[in-house]
Amino acid sequence: PRAWNLIARPTGLPGPECFSLVETPPAPLADGEVRVRNTWLSVDPYMRGRMNDVKSYVPPFGLNEAMTGGAVGVVVESRADGLKPGDRVMHMLGWRDEAVGKPPEFMPLPDLGVPDQMFLGLLGITGLTAYFGLFDVAEAKAGDTVFVSAAAGAVGSAVVQFAKLKGMTVIGSAGGAEKCALVRDLGADAVIDYKADRPLVKQLAEAAPDGIDVYFDNVGGEHLDAALAAARNHGRFAMCGMIESYNTGAPLSLQYAIRIVGFRLQLRGFIISDYMHRMNEFFAEVGPWAAAGKLKNIETIRDGLEGAPDAFRELFSGGNKGKMVVRL
Ligand code: NDP
Repeated sequence: PRAWNLIARPTGLPGPECFSLVETPPAPLADGEVRVRNTWLSVDPYMRGRMNDVKSYVPPFGLNEAMTGGAVGVVVESRADGLKPGDRVMHMLGWRDEAVGKPPEFMPLPDLGVPDQMFLGLLGITGLTAYFGLFDVAEAKAGDTVFVSAAAGAVGSAVVQFAKLKGMTVIGSAGGAEKCALVRDLGADAVIDYKADRPLVKQLAEAAPDGIDVYFDNVGGEHLDAALAAARNHGRFAMCGMIESYNTGAPLSLQYAIRIVGFRLQLRGFIISDYMHRMNEFFAEVGPWAAAGKLKNIETIRDGLEGAPDAFRELFSGGNKGKMVVRL
């Protein structure tokens, strides 16, 4: 089996010098363990934070240890009750081709007749993040005008679709004409190309002349500032991520922050792991949408374990549409 180890802590965008694909000799299973052949790996922006040696909501990756992350696979050998060869499971032992552990770590995939990798995306953490971020954290409701950044990405493309299904007006931002066309296809009422040579504040003011009720922040920086400038009284912001600064660590400079006071804005951060116990609510609503063909599963597939670090890096240059997954 082979696994990607973190061998150096990156400054800026993590280069090849930070990763090493390490092969270990096969080992027999202990009692109670299963062996899973991974078929799909997830690469996610939050993993960049885990590459730094700082205290956060998840501990940093250890140096010279295999990294972890979302993955889907199939049980190939079992010495545990409850899982047998052939079972398809979801787990957190990604960045490797084979995972060994005990059943509580491996969750059987629900039988929804969808491609397995959807459980790393729209029907997994990505979908949960969009769903609870929008409806719970931002308390978005029918009639609201919602602005979402990185709208052609995994979480963003789910936010656009969920908000439309619930009767909201949606403005999405993304980088470049092709991604903006995708966001429109997903149902957005207006799109903003943040790479166009016009200030975001102006573009958003035009797209939402009466202002926004909700901002779903995936990006931070200038996007957040534009949202502050456009927010209506009692606007609600779901602070999901700030990818713009993950590699730079640059401090936020917000020209419109003072509006938080006067417009009584509510900015709420959230971490999706706090919502795992509410997964049933998510499946109760989103499962039928998926079954009825109301959701588009947007994904970008990169092949081979060798390519996982490159696929990860691509998240920061917008190489992905929808969920970035690695097929093994
Ligand atoms: P995405 O699929 O959205 O991939 C990242 C996208 O971000 C890229 O495709 C790119 O799109 C955009 N991007 C990258 N760099 C920049 C930049 N400098 N400025 C503007 N846009 C940029 O990833 P996810 O959907 O997995 O994650 C989206 C956000 O949600 C991230 O901030 C992530 O950390 C956060 N998140 C938070 C969770 C939580 O629990 N709070 C859980 C899961 C995700 P483009 O081509 O349009 O630039």
